[in-house]
Parts: sequence; structure tokens; C-alpha cells
Amino acid sequence: MQALLHVDLQAIAANWLRLRAVHGADVAGVLKADGYGLGAVEVGRALLAAGCRHFFVAHLAEGVALRAALGPGPMVAVLNGFEGAADVWPVVNNLAAARAACGPVLLHVDTGMARLGLDVAELSALPPLDVRYVMTHLACADEPAHPLNAAQKGRFAAVQAAFPGVPASFANSSGIFLGEGFGSDLARPGAALFGINPTPGRPNPMRCVLRLDAPIIQLRDVPAGTPVGYGATWVAQRPSRIATVAAGYADGYPRSLSDRGLGVLAGRPVPVVGRVSMDLTAFDVTGVEAALGDMLTLMGPENPPDALAARAGTIGYELLTSLGSRYRRIYR
Ligand SMILES: *Cc1c(COP(=O)(O)O)cnc(C)c1O
Repeated sequence: MQALLHVDLQAIAANWLRLRAVHGADVAGVLKADGYGLGAVEVGRALLAAGCRHFFVAHLAEGVALRAALGPGPMVAVLNGFEGAADVWPVVNNLAAARAACGPVLLHVDTGMARLGLDVAELSALPPLDVRYVMTHLACADEPAHPLNAAQKGRFAAVQAAFPGVPASFANSSGIFLGEGFGSDLARPGAALFGINPTPGRPNPMRCVLRLDAPIIQLRDVPAGTPVGYGATWVAQRPSRIATVAAGYADGYPRSLSDRGLGVLAGRPVPVVGRVSMDLTAFDVTGVEAALGDMLTLMGPENPPDALAARAGTIGYELLTSLGSRYRRIYR
């Protein structure tokens, strides 16, 4: 018995349409890391059908695969840059890449993150380029009050002025919700497409797009005093019913959820007990209807990636992109 990853492509398309309505201009789909773990090809096709015409990935191989899946027409751009491939555009992040470029490019200018992108001071040294978009990336868009947002906005406005007539690409998921001055010709959301809250601390405007179910492959009733799992970190305080499911940290259910994770069974929350192991995780299902073969929901609308990530001490982005390859993926 195998864990199942249900991916709701309709919900992803609905999230994209919602983001486009909020942005009021074109919106791309960022599908790096295999579409945030949910399948770049399947998600790309669904977004294309919804009207999306611009796609970003991180690596050339991802770009080539996406181009093959989507056919000619939509833009496919590679954020990490590369040298030369027909039909997939590089994002130029430095002067060396600019000198090597020989076709259409996107030009990435760093405005305050010191990660990828040319320094503003390097722009005067650029060779002639066929720039289709000038872009930058926000460092703190999920913290609307952070002063770096306004600083980046000001610097990017100056960069845009240096490229008159060239379309601009600015906001990521959270940036779309920053309002005035953070719009552009092309927003680049990733996480929000997949239901991660782009407005942390406020209600999530996005739909949950996945459900990760793992089958119960062992059920046992244990007396008080019984330890569960490696290291015996959890000991039953009362007679308990323990369900062991077929998913563990090798499936991207992080070990940091040991004694902290929360699943859902028959509509009831059930806590992880003991350590998450490689292929298995135990849950306390005392008082909940459970049978061998029942599916326990590790992640879904009732325990969404953001909430589970908070329990694991990470972010929804990392949970999704860590999803392993052992799941059977079911697309709707
Ligand atoms: C990952 C990434 C995005 C998408 O960011 P989200 O926060 O997932 O919306 C956009 N632009 C660049 C340059 C990125 O690296």
C-alpha cells in the first residue's frame, strides 16, 4: 500500500486566476523544483489551459522539459541563467552571462537581496542585448511593513527608467498583495499557486490544492507505559491505539515533526507520537474510528502545508518541495 498525493489542478488554475485579478496585469507561473513538488509538467499544462503564457523554472533541464510539454508559444525562462538553448530564454544575472547571450533574454537586476542579479552599477557596462523583460526579486514581500520593500520599489523604478519601453517583472506571490507600486507587466508567483498563504498572519486568500494521504499499515492497542518508536521518546500515558502509516522522512514528512505533527483521520486531528522514521510514522488514534488500510491525511485542507510547516519549524515552501517521489500522484 502506497501513499497518495492528490493534486487539484483546478484549484491551482483558480489560484492563478485569482492572482491575476488581484495583480490586474499579466501573471506568470513559477514552476521551479518540479512545480513546488507537485509536478511542473502537469501544473504547467493546467495553467496554460487557464490562460497563463509565461513560465519560470530554475534550471535549464526543467525549462527544456517544460517547453516539450507545453509546445511552442508560451515563454519559458530559466531563473538561474544558462548559455544557449532554442526556445528557452535565460535570465541574465551578471555581465559574463550578458556577454554570452545571443538571443532574447530577461535581465535580472538586484535591488536589495544580494542574491542573483546584476548590480545597478553594472548596468552601464552591459553589451547590446535583446531584453524582453527587466526584472527584480523582493526579499521581504511577506512582511508588508519591512522597509526593504519600499527601498526595492524605489530602486526598481529607477532601473525601469533606464530601460524605456521594456516590460517589467516585479512581484512574487506576496508582492502581488503589497499594493500600489508593486505591480508590473508580469508578476511571478510560485507558492501562492500551490495554496501557500501569500499574506502570512492574515486569512489565506488561496485555495488548498493538495491532499497527502498515507495508508495505515499497522494498528495496535498498547497499555499505558508503552514506548513508541526510535529512542522511545513518547510513552503512552493511558491505554492507547497506535496507527502506523506508510510514510516517513524519506517521503518528505520531516523528522522535525516527531512528537509534533498533526494528521487527520475520519475528520479528527490525530497527533504524531514518537519519532518520524524513514518510511513510517506513528499516530495516536485513540478514540478515533480506524481500520487497517484506512487513509490518514498527512497534509490537506484541514492541516495545510503552512500549519504543518509551522509545527516542523520550517515554511510551506520547504514542505512542498521536499515531497518525495514515492507517492502515487493523482491529478484532478
Ligand atoms: C522562487 C521565485 C519566485 C516565486 O516566488 P514565490 O514566493 O514562490 O511566489 C519569483 N521570482 C524569483 C526570482 C524566484 O526565485
